[in-house]
Amino acid sequence: MKKVIVDKSLCIGCGACAQIDSENFKIGNDGLSELKNENVQAENPNVVNAMEACPTGAIQEKEEESASN
Ligand code: SF4
Repeated sequence: MKKVIVDKSLCIGCGACAQIDSENFKIGNDGLSELKNENVQAENPNVVNAMEACPTGAIQEKEEESASN
């Protein structure tokens, strides 16, 4: 399972991600995208669409850090 992060230093606040996948993305008070929860999965097709639509590559997959198991 891969998680997703939004790199705010790349986000330009275009709103495409929140429009495509309002379940997982929103535009925060700072005008930049953020995840609605920490467990957004990169395999989710809506997330993939948002990732592909992002003009700056701010939405990125994050390899889950293998903790104790
Ligand atoms: S699509 Fe990309 S640049 Fe646009 S608001 Fe979402 S994360 Fe930011």
